[in-house]
Amino acid sequence: MQVNVRVPAKINLALAIGPLRPDGFHDLATLFHAVSLYDDITVSDDDADAPTPPASAARQVTVRVDGPYGTGVPADESNLAVRAVYALADAAGVRPRASLRIRKNIPVAAGLAGGSADAAGALLACAELWGLDWPVERLAEVAASLGSDVPFSLIGGTALGTGRGERLEPQSTGASLHWVLAVSEARLSTPAVYRRLDALRAQEGPQAAALWSQTAGAHGGAAPGSAGPVVDPRIVSAVLHGDASAVAPLLTNDMQAAAVDLQPTLQDTLRAGHEAGALGGIVSGSGPTCVFLAADESHARAVATTLAATGHCLAAEPVKGPVRPVLGEHHTS
Ligand code: ATP
Repeated sequence: MQVNVRVPAKINLALAIGPLRPDGFHDLATLFHAVSLYDDITVSDDDADAPTPPASAARQVTVRVDGPYGTGVPADESNLAVRAVYALADAAGVRPRASLRIRKNIPVAAGLAGGSADAAGALLACAELWGLDWPVERLAEVAASLGSDVPFSLIGGTALGTGRGERLEPQSTGASLHWVLAVSEARLSTPAVYRRLDALRAQEGPQAAALWSQTAGAHGGAAPGSAGPVVDPRIVSAVLHGDASAVAPLLTNDMQAAAVDLQPTLQDTLRAGHEAGALGGIVSGSGPTCVFLAADESHARAVATTLAATGHCLAAEPVKGPVRPVLGEHHTS
């Protein structure tokens, strides 16, 4: 049997990062939003074209990766989707046997959680392939063990995320928003962006850091005296109403300064998006993708065309959100 799942990329419409914790992690508060750029995941238990694992292998999961952004994605057990299959098999007591195929349409190391999308897709597809019939909450426990963005990738839509991003409050949305993703030639490693953020904050010194806290608190950030980072409720409400002009000035990302510091050309991309007529724009997550808000679908297409012509990005993709993973048809051969 073969199961297909399409899993969306995510952007962060607000991203507030707390200080470095003694354990090396950061608390965060974010508004996740899944957009219509999808990786396609296929799992099957009888794929004749899949690479043959050694006959002795007790753990038989293979992966092939293709598509526009497939180059350089690991096709071995370090692939997050393969790790997801093993984690689910362990949790369910199933023999891990599956052939995975990933068509990568989501750029890699781009702040779009493409690896997390693939892991979530593998969980959804294998749960179906193995007839697990688990509630999503149970799959989310396995997802959280794989990475902080994986639980959101399982559900998509729009959700508030806290902790390391794995504690989710899904938001029910009727309205769509239209965006342009400005894809960069560069790649940024998320841990490297966090390190730069910590270094920039340390340079600012305690007084500046306190001031920063208050400034960030105006749009989210770590509110002074609060227990941790927060998302401004006004952006949540504006997103739920699909009110693009109210969302635009509230877009915020505490990682943006660090991403721009590592990749200064992002400043040019952000400026180009504004000059192309976007209502607002930010770096997506740890970057380097920049995301621009448009008034509607035709405005998004116009912004994308203008932006692409400036040469300040590799590609400009109009997308809409929120969207959800789509479990496709099954084939039994
Ligand atoms: P995030 O937004 O969660 O920080 P990202 O979008 O910036 O993530 P990914 O595209 O998930 O980053 O890739 C991060 C790294 O993970 C890559 O450098 C890649 O080598 C590795 N990786 C492992 N499995 C995958 C996968 N299935 N797809 C993409 N990258 C993967």
